[in-house]
Amino acid sequence: MMDDTTALYIHIPFCVRKCLYCAFTSTDDAPLGIEKYAALLLREMEVRAGVLAHPLGATTLYLGGGTPSLLEPSLVGNVIEEASRLFRLDPLAEITLEANPGTVTAASLAGYRAAGVNRLSLGVQSFDDRMLARLGRVHTAREAREAFALARRAGFDNIGIDLIHGLPGQDINHWREQLREVVKLRPDHISAYGLTVEEGTPFARLEDQGALMLPDEEVAAAMFEETAELLTAASYDQYEIANFALPGCRSRHNQVYWRRGNYLGFGAGAHSFLREPHPGIRWRNPDDLGTYGCSLAEGVLPEIDRTPLVQRDAMAEWLFLGLRMLEGVEEERFRAEFGASLAEVHGAALERLCAAGLLIREGEHLRLTRRGVILSNRVFGAFL
Ligand code: SF4
Repeated sequence: MMDDTTALYIHIPFCVRKCLYCAFTSTDDAPLGIEKYAALLLREMEVRAGVLAHPLGATTLYLGGGTPSLLEPSLVGNVIEEASRLFRLDPLAEITLEANPGTVTAASLAGYRAAGVNRLSLGVQSFDDRMLARLGRVHTAREAREAFALARRAGFDNIGIDLIHGLPGQDINHWREQLREVVKLRPDHISAYGLTVEEGTPFARLEDQGALMLPDEEVAAAMFEETAELLTAASYDQYEIANFALPGCRSRHNQVYWRRGNYLGFGAGAHSFLREPHPGIRWRNPDDLGTYGCSLAEGVLPEIDRTPLVQRDAMAEWLFLGLRMLEGVEEERFRAEFGASLAEVHGAALERLCAAGLLIREGEHLRLTRRGVILSNRVFGAFL
C-alpha cells in the first residue's frame, strides 16, 4: 500500500547541562555552534528531498532533542520554511517544539509561535525541586509553572507536559502529588514515562554502586496504575501506554511512529523509516557531530546502518507498535499490509496472551487489557 505522506523529525543535540539519567544524543559542549548546526540541518533536508524515490508530503514536524528551545526562533522558522518548500509541509501540520522550562522567555515563546510552532512539549519531569536537583535538571518547579503560563500567554493552545515516575527515593504518595500538580495546570497532553536506567549514564554508575534507591517493581506498577486512574478521572484519555490527552489533543506525530508510518529524521542521531520498499527500510544518522557535519560538508547524506526489514520482523514491529495504542490493532489491516492473517503468523502467542488476560479480541480488533498495559513488555516480548 503506497503511502506518500511522512512525519519529519529534527534533532537538536544541545543541552545547557547533561541530566544524570540522560542517554539521548545530546551534549552540553557544543564545538560546532548551534547556528552552524542549523545550517547543516537545512542542507541535509535539501539533499534528502533530492534523493527520495518519490516525493513525500509532510503532515507533522517535530523538533526534539536535546533542547530545541536553545534554538533562536528565526532558526526554527528557517527549518519550518524549508520543510514547507522541500516536503510540502501541510499548512495544517502539527508542528511541535520540545522546550526545557529553564530555557524559555516570553519573547522566545512568542517567536516560536510566530514562526509556526503550534504545539509545545514541556519537559517538566517533576514538580519537586529536590527531585529535579537529583535528576540534574537545570530548572525549578516554579520555572516550569512559569514557562507553562508564558506559553499559554504566547498563544499556545496545545501544550504537553512530560513527567517521569519511578524516580530515586520516590514513593506512591509523592508520585500522586506530581499527578495532582500537573492536573491543576490543565495541559492538553501529558506523557508519563517510568524512569529507565540507561547504560553509560551517571545513574547507571550509581546503580552499580548500590547508591540509587529506586522504587521496587510492585511500587513501580502501582505508580503506573495510579497514573491511569488519576488522569482518566481528570478527563484525560489514555490513548497510548504512557500518553494521555484531552479530546482532540493526541500527538499526531507520535501516532505516525506507532502506526508504522513514514518518518524522516534530520540531525545527529536522528532515525528514519520508510515503508517502501516493502516491508520497510530504516537508517540513522551518526551521533557524533563531527562525523555528521563532515559528511554534509561534502554533500553526502550522513546515514548509517541502512537496514531493509525482513517480513517477519516487520510483522512483529507492526504488532507491538500498534498495540501500544490502547484502541489496539485491526486484524484486517495486518492482512492488507502483509498478505497473511495474524492467526497464521502469531496464532500461538496470541492465544496464550488472550488466555493469560493480557490481550483481548473484540471483533476484528485486538487490544491490551488493563493488566496487559501494565505488563506490556511481557506482551511485546512474545512476538519477538
Ligand atoms: S534536557 Fe533532555 S536531552 Fe538534555 S540532558 Fe536533560 S534529559 Fe537529556
